[in-house]
Amino acid sequence: MNFMSKIKVIPCSGIGKVYGLMAREAMLRVSGELLPEETETVCLAHIVTGEEDAKEKVEGFTCVTMDGCPKMCAAKNVAFVGGNVVKEFKSIDAMKEHRGIDAGTATFLTDDGWNIVDELADMVKKEILEIIEGEK
Ligand code: SF4
Repeated sequence: MNFMSKIKVIPCSGIGKVYGLMAREAMLRVSGELLPEETETVCLAHIVTGEEDAKEKVEGFTCVTMDGCPKMCAAKNVAFVGGNVVKEFKSIDAMKEHRGIDAGTATFLTDDGWNIVDELADMVKKEILEIIEGEK
């Protein structure tokens, strides 16, 4: 898989809640550790502000987003600039499986929070591998 055809894994830029932090950490784990050859991330802020470089990386390419909440900022903005969003995740959904757990804050994750990030990253990895398999 060459650089240009890497699947884009894009988190929202939520900085006020733990869910935004979890979304960013999960997508960074996917692009940086789990599937570095198959995926790359793009800064949502650059997409939103219309930076040409960011738009070029997304427009017409397969994208997977992860948002922190139902406002779906990443999914909406990536689609708005022409990204082909094939899967939209929400980190807050993972918390439904872990009711009552203290995942951390907007700037700090507890051990439980990191465990949920691992789960989210594994979920995204599984999805990406299925997408790649489907494209063969
Ligand atoms: S999806 Fe929710 S948490 Fe993420 S940037 Fe938008 S409003 Fe903030």
